Amino acid sequence: MSPLVDLLIVGAGAAGSVAAIQAARAQPRLKILLVDSRPDPGAKIRVSGGGRCNIGNVRVGVGDFHGGDRPFIAKVLKAFPPPEVLRFFQHLHLPLVEEGEGRLYPASQRAADVVDALRRGYRQASVGTRFAFQVDSLRPVDGLWRVGAGPDFLMSRRVILATGGCSLPKSGSDGRLFPVLEGLGLPLRKPFTPALAALALTDGHPLRALAGLSAEVLLKLPGCPGSWGKSLLITHFGLSGPAVLNASRHLLQAALPGGTPPLVVDWLPDLAASHLEGRLSSPMGARRMASVVGDWLPQRLARLQLDRAGLSHDLPMAQLDRLRRRRLVQLLKEDSLPVKGARSWHHAECTAGGLHLEAFLPETLEAGDFPGLHACGEMLDVDGRLGGFNFHWAWASASVAARAAAKSLSRP
Ligand SMILES: Cc1cc2nc3c(=O)[nH]c(=O)nc-3n(C[C@H](O)[C@H](O)[C@H](O)COP(=O)(O)OP(=O)(O)OC[C@H]3O[C@@H](n4cnc5c(N)ncnc54)[C@H](O)[C@@H]3O)c2cc1C
Repeated sequence: MSPLVDLLIVGAGAAGSVAAIQAARAQPRLKILLVDSRPDPGAKIRVSGGGRCNIGNVRVGVGDFHGGDRPFIAKVLKAFPPPEVLRFFQHLHLPLVEEGEGRLYPASQRAADVVDALRRGYRQASVGTRFAFQVDSLRPVDGLWRVGAGPDFLMSRRVILATGGCSLPKSGSDGRLFPVLEGLGLPLRKPFTPALAALALTDGHPLRALAGLSAEVLLKLPGCPGSWGKSLLITHFGLSGPAVLNASRHLLQAALPGGTPPLVVDWLPDLAASHLEGRLSSPMGARRMASVVGDWLPQRLARLQLDRAGLSHDLPMAQLDRLRRRRLVQLLKEDSLPVKGARSWHHAECTAGGLHLEAFLPETLEAGDFPGLHACGEMLDVDGRLGGFNFHWAWASASVAARAAAKSLSRP
């Protein structure tokens, strides 16, 4: 007979590790087992925040997240606000420091320290572990849960799923459990698309020749409310940088079978189109176009935009006709860039789409139709913007699921 545990947590990444610690703290006598497909879990945390791990944010609100039902997300966030994150990691002897825009990082500036602290936390709480255990089946059997990995299986009174989404699949979060869960009857919110992802421009797009150049821009999507500001980085494949990462999930989710909509770039968000029109119609027209546009944009980008408008770099401004002036202003203020799609899941930080929130209760993150089965973290249909919000969601949702699971297991 396979060993029976009180609580089985599947996935020892961000959410699963915290769920293990929180459940053990809430009910120290429970037999808790944390399993993961990887022999050495925590890869995603280790590479996060450029190796520094932007572990959270001092200001977190429902507006920082996308995906499922707003009141649902708000309820989970309320149960584990930022001061609790600080206290939680303090308790694990991992002090945090605040940087710009409220972002929290470990004071050591080392993401690996977060993995070590979590690992220490669940080991000291006597949580059992079983790694290199790739869950591929899950079903209720006589009031218990049977969780299988090939021919091997475990039995548990309750299960918390924390297997992440599909971003960075080499970390172990490859989304392979989703079809199993769908087969069980848990609804998925599709499509699944990368979020916080770099975007590929169509092959041969001239902007790609400017790899390495960055600019402060405002991004928009046709027919989609909202805009995304901050810096954009041009790369050899297309576009990256904070503005692009934040806009990516909206663009990719809006994609139709026909293709991805264009990304509209305002290269000069601080200058109105009417102001540019006025400047370009100025009677002091002896200046050359490359010099005029070079006042506003980095030289290489200025010259490229002139090429795309069909204008010679040496053209005196006085000779700029109305049609080409309009075209140039459009390229500066509403440059519609053809996007092929996300660069890849390997270059995405998060997943848009996931387990449908409607199947879960926000107070416990337990599946309404499957008593004893909870889920948390990136696998739920919630994704945050840049700034530590995805980790915050992992900590908050894990805490809600773990406390609820522990509480119900404490009942005779
Ligand atoms: C490059 C990069 C940088 C990032 N930087 C930040 C940042 O600075 N700040 C921030 O807030 N967010 C950041 N994120 C996002 C953040 O890492 C995730 O949102 C967070 O890790 C999600 O936590 P999770 O526990 O739900 O999933 P994960 O951390 O992905 O953990 C899931 C775990 O489940 C295991 N697993 C998967 N399938 C199975 C299975 N079938 N059986 C057993 N185990 C399984 C995996 O091996 C993995 O260990 C970053 C992401 C990436 C890729």
